[in-house]
Amino acid sequence: MENCIFCEIVKGDSPASIVFEDQICVVFMDIQPVNHGHALVIPKVHAASLSELAPDIGGYLFQAAQRTAQAIRSSSQMRCEGINLFLADGEAAGQEVFHVHLHVIPRYSGDGFGFNFSDRYWQKPSREELDASAKTIITGLVQQQDEVEAFWQAYTASLPDGVRPPGSYDVWAFGDTEEMANELGQLVRAGIKTATCSLLWEYEAEGDEDLPKAGDVSVITNGQGAPLCVIETVEVEVKAFGQVDEAFAYDEGEGVRSLAYWRSAHWKSFTRVCGSIGREPTETMPLICERFRLVFPK
Ligand code: 5GP
Ligand code: ZN
Repeated sequence: MENCIFCEIVKGDSPASIVFEDQICVVFMDIQPVNHGHALVIPKVHAASLSELAPDIGGYLFQAAQRTAQAIRSSSQMRCEGINLFLADGEAAGQEVFHVHLHVIPRYSGDGFGFNFSDRYWQKPSREELDASAKTIITGLVQQQDEVEAFWQAYTASLPDGVRPPGSYDVWAFGDTEEMANELGQLVRAGIKTATCSLLWEYEAEGDEDLPKAGDVSVITNGQGAPLCVIETVEVEVKAFGQVDEAFAYDEGEGVRSLAYWRSAHWKSFTRVCGSIGREPTETMPLICERFRLVFPK
């Protein structure tokens, strides 16, 4: 993103006192610290606000902030009796730099930093008011799920008479950023992309997901979790990165659809994934190569 000071820091075009860096995030010292040791944790990918940030990257930032907080707490050089994690999302919330960042602020009693409260703060709301607030948020959470469920119902209703709908389905998005989820999801919906691959090591590292198999049905969402289409897995094969051929690269449907393009784009994204699980990318790294067909909308 142009004119974003934090993107410039990510690219190394602007000076920063870097604490930690991997494929996904960077931790560096705030230029105007609230207290000595105040650090910022940011995603490498540009996201102006939380709603633009893929939730798994948000989780990753929190983990990096937790480790940074621990390092600050255990140092004997910094005055730290407590820590605040703080994230300003939106101008009204105090956001000044529009590239998501999580503040890690060391605190000690009498440091002079704090929140201001309005008079309203001192009049506690009733239980009814709290329940009403909870209900409003629950409605928002349910709506996100409902949209996917309604889409699934539309798909099952579109099946010819006598065809039994699948008993269950997964919900997921392509790629590891919101941009990729939108871009690749549209290619799938347009019927251009009919193959995908992921790193077997990532499945092994996460350890809680079953490998895809022929017959699996999935609702594909965009980066904001809105449903785009339904696909059915047709074939799954584990192959080394170096064994992927022209035909598979073409079916992946990205860019110019050549093997050279596929290798360059996927090497980059697998390098990112490898970084997050502490491995090095190689020509022999095993990939789960999956072919699928678009079943809805058609
Ligand atoms: P916000 O109010 O958006 O949550 O916080 C922005 C933070 O970024 C501020 O604490 C500010 O001091 C810090 N900041 C702004 N520009 C730079 C910069 O160029 N380098 C660094 N390291 N921090 C910055
Ligand atoms: Zn940025």
